[in-house]
Amino acid sequence: MRIGSDAQKRRRLSILVLGNLALGLVLGLPTRALGPVEAAGQSRNPYDKYRRASYSNEGLYSEQEEIRLGEELHKQLQKEQRLVRDPELVGYVQRLGERLARVSKRPDLDYHFFIIEDPTVNAFALPGGYVYVHTGLLATVESESELASVLGHEIGHVVARHGLKNFKRAQQYQFIVGLINLSIGAIGGESTAARLGQTASQLLAAGIFTKHSRDAEREADFLGLHAMYAAGYDPRGMISMFEKLERLSRQNPDLLGFVFRTHPPASERIRNTQAEITDHLALDPRLVRDTPAFSLMKHRLRELGFARNAEPPARRRRRLR
Ligand SMILES: [Zn+2]
Repeated sequence: MRIGSDAQKRRRLSILVLGNLALGLVLGLPTRALGPVEAAGQSRNPYDKYRRASYSNEGLYSEQEEIRLGEELHKQLQKEQRLVRDPELVGYVQRLGERLARVSKRPDLDYHFFIIEDPTVNAFALPGGYVYVHTGLLATVESESELASVLGHEIGHVVARHGLKNFKRAQQYQFIVGLINLSIGAIGGESTAARLGQTASQLLAAGIFTKHSRDAEREADFLGLHAMYAAGYDPRGMISMFEKLERLSRQNPDLLGFVFRTHPPASERIRNTQAEITDHLALDPRLVRDTPAFSLMKHRLRELGFARNAEPPARRRRRLR
């Protein structure tokens, strides 16, 4: 049974990779790292273009439709991924996420934070305020400010409606239209529900909501940095998080989830974050790096066998049952 589920996982992964490739081709997304000149442009601070941006659902699905789409995608994702149900772990991530969401540029949405049992270092967001982190990410972060930087970034994607924008662009292409021409508001019999589930599954696999342009990633970094700072976290946590991702991409690329693999190079993200902190954020000694709640989360992670190299997953699962 375990072998079967591994095989399934591999199949899902290859669908995901193929889907991402196809989507990249269709949307013309950059698949290679951009040079520093192109990345930074001519302006001194590459984040200046996001500074006065305002965000709404205008020209996209309404917020109500977005929430319904998110619910549908989440329902499907739950069937395909193993979610951690431990109230202590989930409660911690939910509280931290909400603290960041309340000071984001989209504070009134109901956000839902989930933990996926998966050793790769990954996080992603779906429309409607659904945010996911892998246990592998929780095992990797070493301070609450690092985790806040990741959650802030994902909330940034929700704020800027990046998933919805991808969805809208994808709909303009014939080959994807076949997948998504079902109305998300449709309420019908079992066959409609089944078709909707299948469509949601295909959309997830194709990475429509999780594969973003480099520019969207920069914008999410910008929004995430300011959200974590507004919530009282030391913004340098974002830099040390990027340094970790950079190390990981050199030493253990297999552990790096697909989302981080497609983000801009860590060196560029570190440079941009450093410039933004220097230019716009005052470093106050009261800024939070770590909390007792974070230590408790790490302790619980070890207890449940999700810490890195704690135990082989096979033995761990048997013991937990
Ligand atoms: Zn991102």
